[in-house]
Amino acid sequence: MISREELLRILSRYDERDIRIATICSHSSLQIFHGARLEGFGTIGIALRGNRPYYESFPRASPEIMLEVENYKDVLRKEFQEKLISENALIIPHGSFVEYVGAENILERFRVPMFGNRLTLYWEGDRERQRRWIMEAGVRAPRRYSSPDEIDGPVIVKLHGAKGGRGYFRASSPSEFRRRLEELKLRGIIRGGEEYVIEEFIPGVRFYPHFFLSLLEAPNLPGLEHGRLELLGMDRRLEIIDEVYRGLPEIIEDYLDYTVAGNIPVIVREKFIVDLLEAAARISSAARRLFSPGLIGPFCLEMIYHPRRGFTVFEISARIVAGTNLYPMGSPYSPYYYDEPMSMGRRIAREIKRAIELGRLSDLIY
Ligand code: AMP
Repeated sequence: MISREELLRILSRYDERDIRIATICSHSSLQIFHGARLEGFGTIGIALRGNRPYYESFPRASPEIMLEVENYKDVLRKEFQEKLISENALIIPHGSFVEYVGAENILERFRVPMFGNRLTLYWEGDRERQRRWIMEAGVRAPRRYSSPDEIDGPVIVKLHGAKGGRGYFRASSPSEFRRRLEELKLRGIIRGGEEYVIEEFIPGVRFYPHFFLSLLEAPNLPGLEHGRLELLGMDRRLEIIDEVYRGLPEIIEDYLDYTVAGNIPVIVREKFIVDLLEAAARISSAARRLFSPGLIGPFCLEMIYHPRRGFTVFEISARIVAGTNLYPMGSPYSPYYYDEPMSMGRRIAREIKRAIELGRLSDLIY
């Protein structure tokens, strides 16, 4: 794993008056570039050749410098990394960046300074480690089953390689589990032999609140051991299964699919904000204990509410999530922190700007 010291050595050669915010043109990049421009930063987009004109067609969000690649893994090439470093690039790792370049490649081979703590890639990317993190935080999580034979109620089965919910399925007994697994194999959705986790299926309403943790500020919530935590917005993912009613009165099999297709805005009953902030504070403090300095900047908790159980956290995304794209000019929550439009992309740029002013940029980089 590339050490933090090595990255900080590279960062120390940067001209802090000329930092450029860089990321792959995908996921939440328009918002990141838009926010960076509002805060006065130069921007670098890394685009597939064919995508370039589309990303250049947004006058207020297109990156100032475009670097074309044939394949996103080209960012790992030595010359490409050197080019980014020579431009004083700070990478903002969004979901597609991590997915296309690969968490392990980033940890082992990518020497360009990134905003945030790369150790989160290690803790978030593996379901077992992520589970330890959630347990350490002491928030409510779905029960895990160690074998299909233990299934004694509704479960959701998550395949390890499955991306964005594709190939997930539901079962309520060991025999249903086996039947569904065979069906997915026959339909070519899975190959077989994949690893999976079996998790209690939590009925209720889903909320995906996204937060920003600022290490430059003092704690602002009970139970928060470091940093200021802001609830910057909330969304709900729109998954194929959310429209299952359209096939009624029968259930059309193809709707039983958890693939994310988009995001819709949502707010939570105001009194529940206490539960969300409390869970986020616990997750932040646990991250600090497990992998110091813990979380830096944006993260999201994937939660389900049911009146009998309260909120259950079924996943952590330890970076900017695509649900933030709903709020390029701020969310229903951001005005309670800022009197100007504050997207997550802009919030990241604001933090970098403040850190430079305070001479603390290195605290936010790994
Ligand atoms: P994930 O890949 O963990 O983000 O899950 C993808 C989708 O599957 C979520 O957005 C939920 O709709 C659904 N899901 C995941 N875990 C659970 C659970 N334990 N109970 C109910 N639904 C879940």
